[in-house]
Amino acid sequence: MSILKVARLGHPVIRNPAALVGPEEIQSQEIQKLIDDMIDTMREYDGVGLAAPQIHVSKQIAVLEVNENVRYPRMSKVLLTVLINPKISSRSKNLIEGWEGCLSIPDMRGLVPRNASLVCEAVDRNGKSIKIEAADFFARVIQHEYDHLQGNVYLDRMTNMKSLTHLNEFARFHSSAQEEVEES
Ligand code: ZN
Repeated sequence: MSILKVARLGHPVIRNPAALVGPEEIQSQEIQKLIDDMIDTMREYDGVGLAAPQIHVSKQIAVLEVNENVRYPRMSKVLLTVLINPKISSRSKNLIEGWEGCLSIPDMRGLVPRNASLVCEAVDRNGKSIKIEAADFFARVIQHEYDHLQGNVYLDRMTNMKSLTHLNEFARFHSSAQEEVEES
């Protein structure tokens, strides 16, 4: 088990579109270990997801998981999911605003509009094609991770920067919104 160092906003790897992972590469020891380390790193930092560029690897790999969360007991659960080369093949027209944070932009929160539901096609860690229909919080996590793989962060998606807040102030002034926060 290795906990990897998280790249922060400003490091070019966060802004570079990540490379596709070749089918033969997925089964390699290197990529399989990378995925395991990404899962360990996501759990260590209480993220609900992590994209490879966030640990300085510019490849289209993301991991997602939402377990029981003491801070946010009402948060929707998401089973451990590995997305390689994901594509969002359809998105609902309606948008929902929700609070997001990012391990690469520490101690900040902002309100981000996201598509309420979507269909995501990807490859799993065994190289098998998967198709995920996701709604609400799960859809939000997928969009946040997908954006990382394109070199985008949640700040780019905010339509009103006035909701941007530091973590302490978020706890002080927006505590009613603390039930569900997408941080990854
Ligand atoms: Zn993030």
